[in-house]
Amino acid sequence: MILVFLGPPGCGKGTQSQFLKDTHGFCHLSTGDLLRTEVHSQSQLGLQIASTINNGLFVNDQIILDIIKKSLEQAETRDVLFDGFPRSLVQAKALDNVLDEQNLKIDCVVSFSIAEDALVDRITGRFNCVDCGRVYHEKNNKPQVEGICDTCGGKRFVSREDDSKESLEKRLKIYYESTYPLINYYKEKGLLIEIDSSQNLDNVKSQIVSVINRF
Ligand code: AMP
Repeated sequence: MILVFLGPPGCGKGTQSQFLKDTHGFCHLSTGDLLRTEVHSQSQLGLQIASTINNGLFVNDQIILDIIKKSLEQAETRDVLFDGFPRSLVQAKALDNVLDEQNLKIDCVVSFSIAEDALVDRITGRFNCVDCGRVYHEKNNKPQVEGICDTCGGKRFVSREDDSKESLEKRLKIYYESTYPLINYYKEKGLLIEIDSSQNLDNVKSQIVSVINRF
């Protein structure tokens, strides 16, 4: 199954992707995570894109497509979940082509809807495990044992540099300009399912599972 998660920064795509990866064995392809791995490796590409990400701007389409193609080739399953990609019509059309080349197609696009003011709280309270990247929130989604990552047992956590209020404003502006039109694009293709991601974590999980169960 090929699934796309669509929604503004902070809507919960990453957390729910992690959940589906753990429970349903999806290959989770998050362009944000893949780019951050590149930045941490301090490769030439990583150095080139670091300031773009920290400024809340979009990384160049060709870089994104190369990363996606490579990751798709390496994926061990055809149950793939795209998180944070596509982010524009150009990327959406490129994804259709990449999938077409492999005789694959998108089965469903889940659109996470949430009021804008809830996003600030979600983003500014967010932190990640340094070792595996798992996403937590200081109020709504803490590790089961304080200071220890549920997934890998790691003990070091960081907040993303681009998770500041200022960067969020920029990221939201770009989201509405470039990514929001994808809602109509996928609606017209009959692929869109909307979920209410302002609800608590377990309710959002149940909505996602009921979407998956339709396929
Ligand atoms: P995310 O983890 O999805 O919030 O992505 C973090 C940052 O990575 C974004 O603010 C962009 O700078 C960059 N990024 C992630 N995915 C894409 C994409 N599909 N196209 C362009 N830039 C991206």
